[in-house]
Amino acid sequence: MIYADNAATTKMSDTAVNTMISLMKETWGNPSSLYEHGQKAKEVLEEAREKVASVIGADPREIIFTSGGSEADTQAIRSAAELGKKAGKMHIISSAFEHHAVLHTLERLKEEGYEITLLDVHENGIVLPEEVEEAIRQDTCLVTIMTANNEIGTIQPIREIGRICREKKVLFHTDAVQAISHIPVDVNLDNIDMLSASAHKFHGPKGVGFLYARKGIRLRNLIEGGAQEKGKRAGTENVPGIAAMAEALIEEYSKMDQNAGDLIRMRDRIIRGLAKIPHSALNGDPVHRLPGNVNFCFEGIEGESLLLLLDDKGILASSGSACTSGSLDPSHVLLAIGRVHDVAHGSLRLSIGEDLTEEEADYIIRTVTEVVEYLRSISPVWRDLCSGKVQFIL
Ligand SMILES: *Cc1c(COP(=O)(O)O)cnc(C)c1O
Repeated sequence: MIYADNAATTKMSDTAVNTMISLMKETWGNPSSLYEHGQKAKEVLEEAREKVASVIGADPREIIFTSGGSEADTQAIRSAAELGKKAGKMHIISSAFEHHAVLHTLERLKEEGYEITLLDVHENGIVLPEEVEEAIRQDTCLVTIMTANNEIGTIQPIREIGRICREKKVLFHTDAVQAISHIPVDVNLDNIDMLSASAHKFHGPKGVGFLYARKGIRLRNLIEGGAQEKGKRAGTENVPGIAAMAEALIEEYSKMDQNAGDLIRMRDRIIRGLAKIPHSALNGDPVHRLPGNVNFCFEGIEGESLLLLLDDKGILASSGSACTSGSLDPSHVLLAIGRVHDVAHGSLRLSIGEDLTEEEADYIIRTVTEVVEYLRSISPVWRDLCSGKVQFIL
């Protein structure tokens, strides 16, 4: 089996698994308990906080542990919105291709009376900093733009966007879930006020993540209860998960440069191979993209059929289209970069891992090419395209 869906989730590293097991067996006390067994867990928790903070250039006091990326996104955006409202500022800027954790939170806020501007991401899947600058108004309380997109992997100019936000005194949040451990992110160098991350995207456990919030930003607590996480996130801390996240993060960071080099080599090999398929197109900028992300549209086929046939041949991938989740709408990300519905339906995302070999990359190229050819041979849409009844777009 070739697992090429690392943007959906990653396999836990041995380090992360072993950390969790040992803590669950030995250091299972409640960090809020005053006896030593509890205080040991508290120490583990604070060490994890230091490790996580060190990786992104933050102070440990600026890290709040959450249940993952979605919670961190929601908390960051809700906090900024509440602060804005108090100051009479109820305008928020984001982009059209954010993760649903961001977009759906913004939709709720819109219902509550906020005004939302979603910026265009253009054909290459990149937000222009000057358009962020133009969109900022007197009543803007937040700009939230992801560091890297989860479907097409494009990397956003967040340092420049952050600089503009700082100049205009507007809070800047970035969903860095896909970026963390793949590209360097530093909250000071990149002018970030708030940042979301999720452990299961970097070989840590599911259900754990963190939110970085610069000192002085008053967070809103989404969960009421005890005084954990300085009262900003009640509930007994998931100590084994949090510690495993920190270990996974440190390990991935130590290998980041080498992994990125290996991944880019394989990514570009696959991109070159798949680009040879007629009437196909790479989605998103070829250079400013995550080291492991390949995303293509193939005209005249359905992404779901492609996925099922690839699964039969041992390749686990994903399609931009949301049909698998019971909706017939194509991916909002592909629509945002200007792909029309029919073309967006025939998409394939391969998010490869650092252990992918050259042979496996070539197997992917060969198999995708064969499966696309087969699907086209039985597709009425393809027949109409070939006969000229319908015009090719790609
Ligand atoms: C996976 C993902 C999330 C959600 O993270 P969870 O930990 O699964 O809640 C948010 N944003 C992006 C960009 C993601 O890829």
